[in-house]
Amino acid sequence: MNDGSDSDGPDRDVLDRAADLLSQASHAVALVGAGMSKESGIRTFRGEGGLWTERGEPPLNQYDGFRDDPKRWWERRLEQAAAEDRFGESLDAAEPNAGHLALAELERIGVVGHVITQNIDDLHRQAGQQSLTEIHGNRHWMRCVSCESRWPRVEFPVDPEALPPRCAQPNCDGVVKGDTVMFGEPIPPTALVRSEQETMQADLFMSIGTSAVVYPAAQYPMIAVQRGVPLIEINPEPTPLTEVASIVLRGPSGEVLPRLVDAVRERCSP
Ligand SMILES: [Zn+2]
Repeated sequence: MNDGSDSDGPDRDVLDRAADLLSQASHAVALVGAGMSKESGIRTFRGEGGLWTERGEPPLNQYDGFRDDPKRWWERRLEQAAAEDRFGESLDAAEPNAGHLALAELERIGVVGHVITQNIDDLHRQAGQQSLTEIHGNRHWMRCVSCESRWPRVEFPVDPEALPPRCAQPNCDGVVKGDTVMFGEPIPPTALVRSEQETMQADLFMSIGTSAVVYPAAQYPMIAVQRGVPLIEINPEPTPLTEVASIVLRGPSGEVLPRLVDAVRERCSP
C-alpha cells in the first residue's frame, strides 16, 4: 500500500484517489480527534507538553464526585472559573483552522454527511459544520444528566444561590452539568446512537487526526470497514487504523483537507 508520505504531504496520485472516492460519496462520515484541535494551538492532554502530563491526570472517578454532591461540584466549578486557567485560555483563544473550514466546505459541497468529533472545543461549529455529534460534549454547552437536553452556556445562566442548576424542560427536574464528558461518566446514549446510525449510513469513512484506539470512537471506523466502506485516514503519524485504511494521507489535516477540497471541486464542478 502506498502511504503517500513525503516531506511535502501526500503525493498527488494518492490525493487524486482520495478525491475520486470523496466526489462519488454523498454521505461521508468523518471521525475527528485531538490532532485537529492541536493544529489550532489547543494543548493536548497526554504526551509531551500535555496538560495532564504537567498536572497529573484527573481522578478516574471524577463523575462519581459530581453525582455524589452536584452542589459542591458546581461551587468548585464556579470558584475555578474565577481563577486563572491557562488551558481554558488556550481554548478560548483557539480558532478553526484550515482543516475545520475545509471539512465544513465538504459538507456544503454535499460530500460529507456527518462529523463525529472527540473534541470539546466548539471549533467545528465555529467553522460552520451543521451535522455534528460531539461525543465528549462541548465546553460551551450544558446538559441535563436525566433527559440529555443541551443548551449553549450563554443561554443557561447559573444562579450561585441555587446549586446545582436544574433542567429547564417541562416534566424534568434533572441536574444540569457542563456538557463535557467527565472521567467515569458514560457517553450520552443519544450521542452513541447517532454516531452509530450515521456510520451505518456512511458511503465513505474518514478518520482525521485520531489514533482511534479509545472506545467508543474506535468502533466507528471499524464498523465502516466491516461494512465494506472505504476508509481514508488523514494523520501525520501511522495509527492502528492505517493498515485497514483504503487510502492514507500523511500530513496535518489543515494542509491535507484544503487540498482535498480543491481536488473534489475540480471533479464536482459541471
Ligand atoms: Zn432534563
